[in-house]
Amino acid sequence: MNCFKCDGELKDKKINYVVDMDDTIIIIKKVPAKVCTKCGVQYFDDQTSQNIEKIVNKLKQISAEVTIVNYQDKVA
Ligand SMILES: [Zn+2]
Repeated sequence: MNCFKCDGELKDKKINYVVDMDDTIIIIKKVPAKVCTKCGVQYFDDQTSQNIEKIVNKLKQISAEVTIVNYQDKVA
């Protein structure tokens, strides 16, 4: 599988996923993603996307300015 944008090589990586909302920032650490070695675009598989969405929806209810969680802790 290659990058849809530049056809570069995709590598499995653990990345920090940042959600920047109006008055809160959520950082999910160590999210498994495929990252293009050329242009840096990040791809998530369906399961991971769903998990991210679930985590974000839950964390949105906590009214902290910055929330940092570990992906593995939330999915396990
Ligand atoms: Zn690329």
